[in-house]
Amino acid sequence: MITITIQKQIQLKKRPTGVPTSEHFEFVEVPVESPAKGEILLQTIYISVDPYLRGRMNDTKSYIPPFKLNEAISSGVIGKVVESKSDLFEVGDFVIGSLGWQQFSVAKDNTVRKIDPNLAPVSAYLSVLGMTGLTAYFGLLDIGKPKAGETVVVSGAAGAVGSIVGQIAKIKGARVVGIAGSDEKVRYLLDELGFDAAINYNTQDVGSALKEACPDGIDVYFENVGGEISDTIFPLLNNFARIPVCGAISAYNNSEPDVGPRVQGYLIKTSSLMQGFTVGNYSSRFGEGAKELASWLLEGKLKYEETVTEGFENTIDAFLDLFKGANLGKAIVKVADSDK
Ligand code: NDP
Repeated sequence: MITITIQKQIQLKKRPTGVPTSEHFEFVEVPVESPAKGEILLQTIYISVDPYLRGRMNDTKSYIPPFKLNEAISSGVIGKVVESKSDLFEVGDFVIGSLGWQQFSVAKDNTVRKIDPNLAPVSAYLSVLGMTGLTAYFGLLDIGKPKAGETVVVSGAAGAVGSIVGQIAKIKGARVVGIAGSDEKVRYLLDELGFDAAINYNTQDVGSALKEACPDGIDVYFENVGGEISDTIFPLLNNFARIPVCGAISAYNNSEPDVGPRVQGYLIKTSSLMQGFTVGNYSSRFGEGAKELASWLLEGKLKYEETVTEGFENTIDAFLDLFKGANLGKAIVKVADSDK
């Protein structure tokens, strides 16, 4: 049982136009609620900060509803049960759920899932074993369908999704080329993850570097960023190339619609498939994906990196840092200590 009665929560105060700043958010003090029958009280241990949350700050229709003003922002959270009025959970259990950006949450026991802290550190359930790992897994394998010997290019390559995409493509025997925003990230892709080539889009001419890195053309382009990086891909597509469109972070803070070269001609000429997706499309198959990701992790075939920001008070900065490329691997906020 905890004795804390007041906690901090982060609310969306104003809808941002362009890049959000701290003025769009507010830290508010709210009571720590008590769980009713069938509910648990959780202490927030880790918060996942993700690029898609930017879209939820706009008042526009999407695959997921916008955040409401003056209410807590929410995302993937790892919590530790500190009080249980549920037969399904005991004090000390670790769970994952979509929960508010606050220090404690009450959750109905059927809205969160128990995680196994013995399989991997609990934060891994927000990264390689969680939403971003599953996004990489299903987007690449279900839409990209890489074959041995093919060339797979991934943008946002050193991030949470991209780093797993590249490694799965290597497991499938493909040649993998990553595009990322710094020399440190390029070195990580080459030296740690075994990518075949990597390009720093901030210092290199991506079009000519790609031509050199992909002498046999591109069979799969896993799209994480959109914009000018994406524009360089289309002229290099091979026949029957596949383009899973996972994200377009370069445009998330645009206040005007994104424009660029037309892609239809390239897709027609090469009979290529370009398909958007959200990981939620695969929810009925999450068990299958999580199992295979976990076995690759345990076999040492998958590595993962996390950029952990310490302290609840730094959650907004950790979110905004995503748009500055500050993270290597998954960006996570550590809110409280846990021994797992
Ligand atoms: P990342 O861990 O990749 O973090 C974001 C990265 O994007 C930054 O580190 C930065 O790396 C890069 N970036 C930021 N701004 C730009 C820019 N203007 N141009 C190019 N790159 C930029 O995030 P995730 O792995 O969580 O997400 C990757 C993408 O996948 C996002 O677009 C996200 O929205 C999408 N996504 C989609 C899902 C789906 O279901 N469809 C689910 C999860 C994520 P760098 O230093 O290389 O610039």
